[in-house]
Amino acid sequence: MNIIDFINYFPDEESCEIYLKVHREKVGIRCKSCSAMTKHYWFSGSKFFECSKCRRRSSLKSGTVMEKSKLSLHTWFLAFMLMSATKKGFSCLEFQRQLGLSRYETAFRLMHKIRVYMGKRDALYTLTDMIEFDEGYIGVATPQREKDHLKRGKGSQRKAEVGVSAESIPLEDLDTGKTSRFCGYFKMEVLGKADGDHVKQFIKRNTEGDIVLFSDKNTAYSQLEDIVETHFTVVSGKDSTNDTLRWVHKAISNLKRKLLGINHMITYKYLQNYLNEFVYKLNRRYFGDRLFDQLIIAGIYPYVQT
Ligand SMILES: [Zn+2]
Repeated sequence: MNIIDFINYFPDEESCEIYLKVHREKVGIRCKSCSAMTKHYWFSGSKFFECSKCRRRSSLKSGTVMEKSKLSLHTWFLAFMLMSATKKGFSCLEFQRQLGLSRYETAFRLMHKIRVYMGKRDALYTLTDMIEFDEGYIGVATPQREKDHLKRGKGSQRKAEVGVSAESIPLEDLDTGKTSRFCGYFKMEVLGKADGDHVKQFIKRNTEGDIVLFSDKNTAYSQLEDIVETHFTVVSGKDSTNDTLRWVHKAISNLKRKLLGINHMITYKYLQNYLNEFVYKLNRRYFGDRLFDQLIIAGIYPYVQT
């Protein structure tokens, strides 16, 4: 959706209310008292839903990413539009300016709330079949008091370890007989620690079924054989790594470039949220104009526990 479409579709608060109501009914509404998806009636005068079983009332924003927010739906919708409009994304300052928000903190919280929901939506899916895995090291800003305790020059203490996986699908070119690898879905998580145990948990959490895993020859990955069907390792730095771990390496370098480009001061606390946004867009790279709708659905998804 571009800015002209947005102005046409959502000229005011009411148009956003109607759109949200329709989408919430389409996705289904979870009653907080019944803890289940129940049939709800809509009261257009007072603008609330009522559970047909227990008669509990809930507002349009209730149970969504917008719950408890004082911002208008129109502002939220514009935020969804901006967050889905570009691959590159906006800096928080630019986002604040575009939304006409008086406080930087409001823009910051708004962006991160949406990023949390992007992550929740992607957490519903798992990777299958052939998987590449590698780690990336992302520089994070440390608050001054933490900085003082860190040894100067020991860069690794200011880098966060990120686990990266990609579905890597081999396809044979019928004319040449050559096999190329195509990528499916991606996953990225802050690992806390890049030891065997954390990596194992990452793979377990994010994959399903019989997995053929490709990684480099790191001793920390030796335990991975227990949880996957087959584990192939390649010696890093060789051409074979570039080909075998092609998609995870590409994703890591794109991520670094993106984070450097628009977010200069990423703290460890919020790094996962930035990963969420990056992977959310990466996994929906062919969605085009549908990304706006998808983001609304992610924001109102009823199975998400808030
Ligand atoms: Zn109910």
